[in-house]
Amino acid sequence: MSFTDLGLVPELSRAVAEQGYETPTPIQMRAIPAVIAGRDVLAGAQTGTGKTAAFVLPLLQALAQSPAGRAPRALVLTPTRELAAQVAESARQYGRHMKMRVCVVFGGVGINPQIEALRGGCDLLVATPGRMLDLAGQRALDLREVRHFVLDEADRMLDMGFIHAIRQVLKLMPQQRQNLMFSATYSDDIRDLATRLLRDPVTVEVAPRNATADRVEQRAYRLPKEHKRHLLAHLIREGGWHQVLVFTRTKHGANRLAEQLAGAGIATAAIHGNKSQNARVRALADFKTGQVTALIATEVAARGLDIKELPFVVNYELPNVPEDYVHRIGRTARAGGTGCAISLVAPDEAGLLKDIERVLRRSLQIAATPEFTVVAEQRPAPRSAPPPARVPQPKHQAGRHGDSGRRDAPGPKGRGPGGHSRSSGRSFGSQAGRRFGSSSRG
Ligand code: AMP
Repeated sequence: MSFTDLGLVPELSRAVAEQGYETPTPIQMRAIPAVIAGRDVLAGAQTGTGKTAAFVLPLLQALAQSPAGRAPRALVLTPTRELAAQVAESARQYGRHMKMRVCVVFGGVGINPQIEALRGGCDLLVATPGRMLDLAGQRALDLREVRHFVLDEADRMLDMGFIHAIRQVLKLMPQQRQNLMFSATYSDDIRDLATRLLRDPVTVEVAPRNATADRVEQRAYRLPKEHKRHLLAHLIREGGWHQVLVFTRTKHGANRLAEQLAGAGIATAAIHGNKSQNARVRALADFKTGQVTALIATEVAARGLDIKELPFVVNYELPNVPEDYVHRIGRTARAGGTGCAISLVAPDEAGLLKDIERVLRRSLQIAATPEFTVVAEQRPAPRSAPPPARVPQPKHQAGRHGDSGRRDAPGPKGRGPGGHSRSSGRSFGSQAGRRFGSSSRG
């Protein structure tokens, strides 16, 4: 099956060939013909499936075949500016052999250049909702010519509270139009929205509902918050991990963890909204080439980034929104292979874990926490720093679930004996296993 077989015009199949795509992905095989046929589509697909090309290619084709004016005839709404920028970039690439005017608008940057760009005429507009409504409110943008509407990552849009904005946008477009909706997860809210938005949709599901979860090995460790970084360093070192994406809840937390892991001799970079675009691009490039082992990211920063097929994803902190868990671990779902998603769960995150399990419709395996070394805190070390030596010492029990009758030993909070030297690590084990009895107790 080729892109031409799907009904794409030569200009487009040439452009995808130049991108190095040889065959369409499953979602492209099913969505492209449906969109070309003018049908509404409801697609369950997440980042990494090729979903962007699945809607951009047939839309470009439709646009090329209808008369152009000044106002956009296709609108793609995305939840984040990173994703908007990425979709627009893809559209420009795919449309390079056509005369296609692709505009992108999002908040956080000056509005005037966007007004200027729209004034110059636009065929396909990619936008985040807030800025787009601003522009429409200022009459810098006319949505009355929109004939094709895409709601990308609809679940994420709802999570981010965009439902009201979406309703506003719908009012500004003509009734007669084609609607495409993409979502990685299905909730009742998504189903409601789909019912209201779509007319007799073709449903495309490349993986059954929330199915990533089934292809990814998922493990959780229960442990006190202050031990998380030590366990993470241990897992990375002992597991010989080369590439791990670590999610933290806050930008500050991302920075702090990056420093701590660097201090433990692990090549680390952090990306989040406060970092410059340059810094993010560099961090991502270093991560992809293997110069950086651990990439620490906040949810929003990682969103829309083209990082996927990773061997390991770590939820250093559980997401507040359970669906984010599915997005996060989707990063590890490798074609043909399996990935591993690890969650570090502090006592105060028990509720979040329950929420996730509800979405997954199954419980997460709680693994026995391996013995790990609490390393004395130090200044961040250079990337090549050797791992700290271990001092043979009696092991301490730090787990909460010990069934040996021993009392929990309060773990040393990131300080080895003496508290200064890198070599003054202190080993202690944790018997946290609920399901795995493979305790490493001494
Ligand atoms: P997406 O799911 O849209 O975020 O796309 C994920 C990645 O897959 C992007 O880097 C695309 O460039 C790439 N991609 C999309 N379609 C294909 C294809 N048919 N063959 C190979 N790579 C693709």
